[in-house]
Parts: sequence; C-alpha cells; structure tokens
Amino acid sequence: MVLQGQAGENAVVGRDAFDEILARLQERGYAVYGTVNEKGTGIFRPLGGAGELSLRCTGGTLPPKYLWYPPSETMFTYDRQSGALRSEIEPVKQAVFGIRPCDVHALLALDEVFLGGDYPDPYYRARREDLPLVVFNCVESGDTCFCSSMGTGPGLDHDYDLLITELDRPGRFLLEVGSGLGGELVRDLRAEVARDEDYQVKHRRLEDAAANARTTLETEDLPRLMSEGHGHPYWREISDKCFGCANCTSVCPTCYCADIFDETDFSLTETRRKRRWSWCFLMEFGAVHGGNFRERRIDRLRQFMQHKLNFSVGQYGRFHCVGCGRCIVWCPANIDIAQTGRTIRGDA
Ligand code: SF4
Ligand code: SF4
Repeated sequence: MVLQGQAGENAVVGRDAFDEILARLQERGYAVYGTVNEKGTGIFRPLGGAGELSLRCTGGTLPPKYLWYPPSETMFTYDRQSGALRSEIEPVKQAVFGIRPCDVHALLALDEVFLGGDYPDPYYRARREDLPLVVFNCVESGDTCFCSSMGTGPGLDHDYDLLITELDRPGRFLLEVGSGLGGELVRDLRAEVARDEDYQVKHRRLEDAAANARTTLETEDLPRLMSEGHGHPYWREISDKCFGCANCTSVCPTCYCADIFDETDFSLTETRRKRRWSWCFLMEFGAVHGGNFRERRIDRLRQFMQHKLNFSVGQYGRFHCVGCGRCIVWCPANIDIAQTGRTIRGDA
C-alpha cells in the first residue's frame, strides 16, 4: 500500500521509513533531535541520520526538556545608551524523533505551567508552538522506569504526530498517524497494511512492558498519604545519605523553577535579563531577606519529592513525577523516589 498522509492512518513500515521521515522534517527546516547511545548511555542530540536512533527504552540521560526550556536564556537586552529594550524571543523550529511517552507527559505538564493561566510564557511558547513529535512507544521497561504506575506509559494514545511501536520481528514497526503534519511526513511512503495481528502484538508488548516493570509505585490516594507521612522517620534516613547535589532535580523532565537575574557587560553599554534553571534542592533557593526558609537538607529533599508526588496534584491536577526514573539513576546516594513513595504509604 501507499500511505495517503491522513491523520488516523496506520500501517506497518520498516526502519528505512525513519530515514524518509527524518529527511522530510529536515526539508521543512526543523532541527531534528533524537536519542543516541553514546558512552553507554542515551543522550538527546541533533540527528545526523535515522540510523543513529536508539530503539532501546531509554529516555536518555537528560530529558529533551532543554529543547523547549533551555537551561539558560536571555529574555531581553537593555541598551543603556539609548534606553531601548530588545526582546530575545525567536520562534524555533525543532522536532523530536523518538521521544518516549513519559517525556510527552512531562511536556504536557510543562505546557500547563508555562502556557496555562493569564500570563503565558512567550519564551516557552516560541519553542513549543511548532514542535513535531515522533513518539516511540516503549516495548520494554528500563530498570528504574515506573511510567505504568504513574499512568504515563509505556504506550501513548494522544498528543503525537507520529507514533511508532516496534513489533515482534526486528525491523517491523506499527506506524500511527496522529496529525495532519504527521500525515505529510509519511505521504506516499510504501508500507504494509496493518493487520489485526499487528495491533494485537502492539497491545501485548505494551502490556508485557507494564507487567514486567521492575519499579512500581501505587498512586491510589498517594497525595493524602504523602501529606500524612510528612513526619515519617524515612525522611531522616534518606536525608542523612543525601549529598544535596541536586542531580535529581537537574535531570527531572518536569522541574521548571528558574532564577532571573541581570548581567551587565564590562563596557556598561548593555544589560541582559537572563533566566537560568534553579532547583529547590539548592541551598540558595530558599534564601530570602532575613534568612533561609529551607536550610535543612531534609526539608529540601522532602520538598522535591512532596512536590512531585503530592503538591503538584493540588496545583495542576496531575503528578509532576512521570516515572522516568532518571532521578533514581543519577542519584549518587541511591535515593529512590519510588521507594520513598512506597515507604511513606506503607507498602515497602
Ligand atoms: S521525580 Fe524522578 S522519576 Fe519522577 S519525573 Fe522527575 S526525574 Fe523522573
Ligand atoms: S541526587 Fe540524590 S544525593 Fe543528590 S540531591 Fe538528589 S537525592 Fe540528594
């Protein structure tokens, strides 16, 4: 069959289709990023070719968040001679090839933070408005993934342009078209008709990935139990091991806090207002006039985890933990947010 390029179309394709999709994104002017295995870990970086893409279930060391929310950016520049303000907002054409369902849920959480409410963030919007997503469903769970507990994976059924699921024979993928742009990216591609068996394989593989997850966390009633567990002795136990390094917050795909400051060049002609990621785990985060409201490490650790598993539900109606497991992987003290949740709720 030949794909018509319509939203809602499905077919089975080989890996050679990835090259064509990548080329079409690049022809449209997108810088395309994907997860590539380097030095034993996955990193998101610009793709040279689709052959570089990692098919392993890994969201990568760092989440793709930096593409829509960079670690540091200039918001505007003030010319001290003329008094003119120059905005630094520029629309950016980026696409992500191989983003995982948990990271799409993290993106949707950030959309609510930056675009919800009365004052949408123009810097975030400039990167988010035109952001094609080619999603890979996860057909196996990583050791620290608990997306199936958090309801954010291993499969996705919304908010994708193209959705790709590896079937049971190497090199066969179920391709699902989720938008008009997704359709344009695959129009006229030669493909096999997707049969009922292919959908059955997809669902079985996703069910197996969820059932075989080695990390789990029961979320029923979790916010209330986390609130009631504020004084649980486990907080002391883990905070005694914690280095306060903030690795956990720096790799989290949903952390959104920032510090805003001015920077003037040596010639004193220009001042730039900048925004830079910041985290509740840093001592200076709680420094205000007259003192620090979160000086103790136990309070900073508890704030991080309570925000992910409790407070975010009250603020935004969803957990701001998507179960990606990155904070577990990168914690030098082996502190595990899923284990903490299980312990506080009494399941461990
Ligand atoms: S808290 Fe940890 S597991 Fe949850 S989304 Fe953030 S990095 Fe991933
Ligand atoms: S990564 Fe681990 S040791 Fe570092 S601040 Fe987070 S919980 Fe503490």
